[in-house]
Amino acid sequence: MFDTLSDRLAATFKNLRGKGRLSDADIDATAREIRIALLEADVALPVVKDFIASVRERARGAEVSQALNPAQQVIKIVNEELVTILGGETRRLRFAKTAPTVIMLCGLQGAGKTTLAGKLAKWLAKNGHQPMLVAADLQRPNAVQQLQVVGERAGVVVYAPEPGSGVGDPVKVAKDSIEEARRRQHDIVIVDTAGRLGVDAEMMQQAADIRDAVSPDEILFVVDAMIGQDAVTTAQAFLDGVGFDGVVLTKLDGDARGGAALSVAKVTGRQIMFASNGEKLDDFDAFHPDRMASRILGMGDVLTLIEQAEQHFEAEQTAKMAEKLLKGGKGNEFTLEDFKQQMLQVRKMGSLGKILKMLPGMGEMKDQIDSIDDKELDRVVAIINGMTPAEREDPKIINGSRRARIAKGSGVEVGEINQLVDRFFEARKVMKQMAGGLGGMKGGMPGM
Ligand code: GDP
Repeated sequence: MFDTLSDRLAATFKNLRGKGRLSDADIDATAREIRIALLEADVALPVVKDFIASVRERARGAEVSQALNPAQQVIKIVNEELVTILGGETRRLRFAKTAPTVIMLCGLQGAGKTTLAGKLAKWLAKNGHQPMLVAADLQRPNAVQQLQVVGERAGVVVYAPEPGSGVGDPVKVAKDSIEEARRRQHDIVIVDTAGRLGVDAEMMQQAADIRDAVSPDEILFVVDAMIGQDAVTTAQAFLDGVGFDGVVLTKLDGDARGGAALSVAKVTGRQIMFASNGEKLDDFDAFHPDRMASRILGMGDVLTLIEQAEQHFEAEQTAKMAEKLLKGGKGNEFTLEDFKQQMLQVRKMGSLGKILKMLPGMGEMKDQIDSIDDKELDRVVAIINGMTPAEREDPKIINGSRRARIAKGSGVEVGEINQLVDRFFEARKVMKQMAGGLGGMKGGMPGM
């Protein structure tokens, strides 16, 4: 999403490398470049102005630091300012004291409300709640059916008027749904409302009427991050017309410039609470300003990576692997079998490219990462499957005739076996270095 912005900022910081101290001219030049980078990313002008003013002021006033060189110091400042405009602290959902908690969604048609309703419901259900979806979008043809499909996929109940029942009043549907939720002991109600293609007085009135009928605990404004500057004006219109408590950004997987994300929170004073980054129901996460800033600056998003790993990795195996890496030594060596198991676990987390991009310092390798073919992993697994347990345990014994046999068995060239074994030894060496204390990583932020 923020690729261009990330690249631009990285280039700016690169110019600062090796400088002993920053002159006012250096700071001005850097500020200018950051300004251009933000404007090109479609960040709203007032937001850019404030941002640059703070960065400039703080960079001038920065004390000479023992720990950070000037380039790192500027990155630190930019990082903190990015976190601030993205809303500062992570804002979590507020739950009502007495169930059900009512969450109302509003936004333009096509923003991704209905999809989001399903994503949010699935996410809440996974976190131990019993959400109910409510189809109060009776405007768009098929909206009710679409919500029903989404609900089914998410495995949650959908409350909608019976087809042909003649109930055409979304306010009544929304109101009745709360009673129904109480009766069926749902602790959360998510009300999907109708949008229009553009801001429209009738739509605002309807959303406001639904709001008054259900008294939501949270009104979430859903906005397509790809609509650029319009996001800000639309947000302002919804803030005035309906009011909202939090923002959900959708389509962060798009390759657009994404300035909306960097403007909406600051302009409306409402925090971004969730981000949606794909068409699948699992392409959804709580929004953390600090992690997003870190990602934009190419510093990776290790926390999200760890959370995903925790969801997909088996704890016991991960612990065993960590011990092997830390201790090493005889009988405790990291083997090709372990290598294979790790690869299978990584495969469960999804595309390798997506995972690698969350690691620090990977920004400069973006092109290589984009060219990674996930099938490559499957080939490696197939080759290892073609080895005997003894070979997996101690790859050093893999001599010429063994190579030929493995190649034949797994249907690849002998050269590929050589490559794999070489890469394995290389990887093991790196892992040992990393496990041997994080000392090797001192002396600079990754990628600096
Ligand atoms: P609504 O009119 O606001 O209810 O919007 P929909 O939920 O119908 O979404 C409009 C379109 O955007 C649909 O084709 C969705 O599949 C798509 N969509 C929604 N969220 C995302 C997202 O995060 N990424 C991508 N790529 N597509 C999305």
